[in-house]
Amino acid sequence: MSILIYAESAEGKFRKVAFELASYAKKVAESLGTTVTAVTINTTDVSELSKYGVDKVLKVTNDKLAGFSAKAYADVIKQAAQKEGAKLILLSSTTDSIYLSPLVAVSLEAGFASNVVGLPVSTSPFHVRRNAFSSKAFNITEILTDVKILGLAKNSYGIFENASALTTEDFNPPIGENDFGIKVESVEKVSGKVSIADADIVVSGGRGLKGPENWGILENLAEVLGAATACSKPVSDLDWRPHSEHVGQTGKPVAANLYIAIGISGAIQHIAGINASKVKVVINSDPEAPFFKVADYGIIGDAFDIVPRLTEKLKAF
Ligand code: FAD
Repeated sequence: MSILIYAESAEGKFRKVAFELASYAKKVAESLGTTVTAVTINTTDVSELSKYGVDKVLKVTNDKLAGFSAKAYADVIKQAAQKEGAKLILLSSTTDSIYLSPLVAVSLEAGFASNVVGLPVSTSPFHVRRNAFSSKAFNITEILTDVKILGLAKNSYGIFENASALTTEDFNPPIGENDFGIKVESVEKVSGKVSIADADIVVSGGRGLKGPENWGILENLAEVLGAATACSKPVSDLDWRPHSEHVGQTGKPVAANLYIAIGISGAIQHIAGINASKVKVVINSDPEAPFFKVADYGIIGDAFDIVPRLTEKLKAF
C-alpha cells in the first residue's frame, strides 16, 4: 500500500501542517513497509520535506494554480495518486484541505475519514480513531474501500525529524478549464504575525477586554510568546477585531498546543471550536465563569492587572 500526501504551502512556502502530515505519513509507512510520496503545488523549495521522511516529491508548478481552486487542486491530487498507485492518501484539516478531501474521495471512489487522531488503530481491517462532537469524544471508523483517504486533525500528531533521501520529479498533470468553476480573487491577510492555523500558541480575547483600544496588552503577550491573536465572536461582531480572528463553532477551529483565553466567558459555542487545544489557560475576573470548568490552568483576576504582569515575567525568560 503506497502513501501519498498533499503537502500544503502558502505563497510558495510549506505550511507547518505539511511537516506534521509528513511525520505522520512516515510512521504509517514504516508500519506498512512502504514509502511516502508528496505532491506539492507551486512550492518553491521542496527539499525541506526530506527532513520529515518523505521519499519522493511530485512537484507541480503551474501559474493557473496560483490561486486556490478546490476542483483543480483535487484533480492534481487525484492524478498524482493514480500515477503512484497510492492506496492511502493523507491530507491535513486546514480550510483548504477540508474542501479538497471529499472532492478527491469522490473522484477516486475512496472512503474518507476526517479529523483523524493518532496512527491507524489497525490496518486490516483499516480502523482509525477520529475526533467527534467538537473533540469531546472519539469514534473508531472503518474504511472499507481499496483507496483510503484520511484528514489528519491539526496539531494532533506533532512534527518529528526523520531524514530521507528525497527524489524530486516535475509533474505536470493536465487540468481542464472546467476545473476552475470557482476562483479565489483575493485573500484576507491575518492581522497578527502568526496565523491561527499555524500557531502553536493562541492568545485570545473576549468582551472582558472592554474595547479595541485595550488590545495592546493582549498583543504584547502574544508577541512575547510568538503566538497568534484570536477573539470571541462578539468581539469581531463589534468590529473590535477582524473577522479572521473569530474562533469557535462559527469561526475558525483552534487546535493549538496552548490556548490562553482572556476575558472570555466560555460559552459552549466558543469552547466547541477550541476544545482540541492541548492546554487551556483562562484569565477571568469571575470565578463562576464557565470557562474554568474546561481549563487546565485558571487565573481569577482582572486581565488589566494580570496580563501585563504575566508578559513582563515571560520577557525575563
Ligand atoms: P461575555 O459573555 O460578555 O464574557 C466576557 C467575560 O469577560 C466574562 O466571563 C467576564 O467575567 C470576563 N471579564 C469581564 N471583565 C474582565 C476583566 N477585567 N478581566 C478578566 N475577565 C473579565 N461565540 C464565540 O466566541 N465563537 C463562536 O463561534 C460562537 N458561535 C455562536 C453561534 C451561535 C449560533 C450562537 C447563538 C452564539 C455563538 N457565540 C459564539 C456566542 C457565544 O454564545 C457567547 O455569547 C460569546 O462567546 C461570549 O463572548 P465573550 O466571552 O467574549 O463575552
